[in-house]
Amino acid sequence: MDAHSVSFPRRETRQVMVGAIPVGGGAPISIQSMTTTKTADVDGTLQQIYDLAMAGCDIVRCTCNDLDAAEGLARIVPRSPLPVVADIHHQYKMALAALEAGVACLRLNPGNIRNPEHIKLVAAECRDRGVPIRIGVNGGSLDERLYQKYGGKVTPEAMVESAMMELEYFAEVGFDDVKISVKASNVPLMIEAYRQLAEVTDHPLHLGVTEAGPGSAGLLKATAGIATLLAEGIGDTIRYSLTADPVEEARAGRQLLEALGLRERKNVDLIACPSCGRAEVDVIAIAEQAQAAFGDRQIPLQVAVMGCVVNGPGEARDADIGIAAGNKRGHLFVRGTNVAVVPEDEMVETLVEWAEFIVEHGIERALERGDLHAAKAAAEADRDQLLQTQGEDANASEQRVELIRKI
Ligand code: SF4
Repeated sequence: MDAHSVSFPRRETRQVMVGAIPVGGGAPISIQSMTTTKTADVDGTLQQIYDLAMAGCDIVRCTCNDLDAAEGLARIVPRSPLPVVADIHHQYKMALAALEAGVACLRLNPGNIRNPEHIKLVAAECRDRGVPIRIGVNGGSLDERLYQKYGGKVTPEAMVESAMMELEYFAEVGFDDVKISVKASNVPLMIEAYRQLAEVTDHPLHLGVTEAGPGSAGLLKATAGIATLLAEGIGDTIRYSLTADPVEEARAGRQLLEALGLRERKNVDLIACPSCGRAEVDVIAIAEQAQAAFGDRQIPLQVAVMGCVVNGPGEARDADIGIAAGNKRGHLFVRGTNVAVVPEDEMVETLVEWAEFIVEHGIERALERGDLHAAKAAAEADRDQLLQTQGEDANASEQRVELIRKI
């Protein structure tokens, strides 16, 4: 930190793990967004998740509003590069189905799942599985009883009480792995609700202004609410709710954190698939080797390390450069176009060498450099061979789907 930099002291909280992403407890403030595709549309949703990961998103939420969506989650979760939070409203059974699908976190709205027995059942299931819950209070769907209690108005006090009531239900079954949000579309209301909440709990807080709306007005409203609280040290994870492509939400989150000095600007932006039943290599080891090889070098590219050539190049098609494993070979691709094939043990050095080439000469020259025809043919051959040996369901997602259908 240089002599002129100023930083905001952060409120101390306990820590919750959403998959591999820590929230609270001194962890970097994470960025969230939500897919706009139907969750049953597995490929469309995964593509959006990859786009979000490229834009700097850390945690993604998908709606789980019916059984088709839950079954979609069973197929999305093993292939998602980001931990997936299932968004649950009204139907507690969808929470159980999402857990069966393997999600990293649930978001429950206390305003519309009000039966204490259902709430406790879901919390007990999360406790047993080690899955956290976000209590997502929303000014627009506040519990009717609280609305009446506070004089037919949505007040900060009512929103905080709603969150604390939910925490008490959870405590009855010994569950407290929780982060909380008290969002509203009215910025002063939202700010005051979070301030009051921060006084009465040490759970990490998820910040957002709901229904901020389209365009610059939406961006400004969300920024006014989120930035004010962050500057006071309140907030551990954020989401811009914009009426826009979710990639815009992730970008806005990233820019805000950078502007406030809460997130460091990166050099190489390395993303890696989480690995799944299809992985042909040790993705974690190769991603770590690649991270070490790029180090702090001034290579401002998005670089993807993908475990298989079946889905890797497609899922990471927006990365500037990436490599996917298949049949003991590394398939190098530039913006989704296969450009070269190398032995598996040369994957990392090839990635670095081509990244340097792109920085020096640009994407177009890199595409001209490769033998695109041969690279594509090799990738297709290895992809077909993997599909033949692994089958269509390498992640055993269909077994999870069967369990979901029994709920
Ligand atoms: S191994 Fe393949 S299918 Fe699995 S997460 Fe990685 S790229 Fe996606």
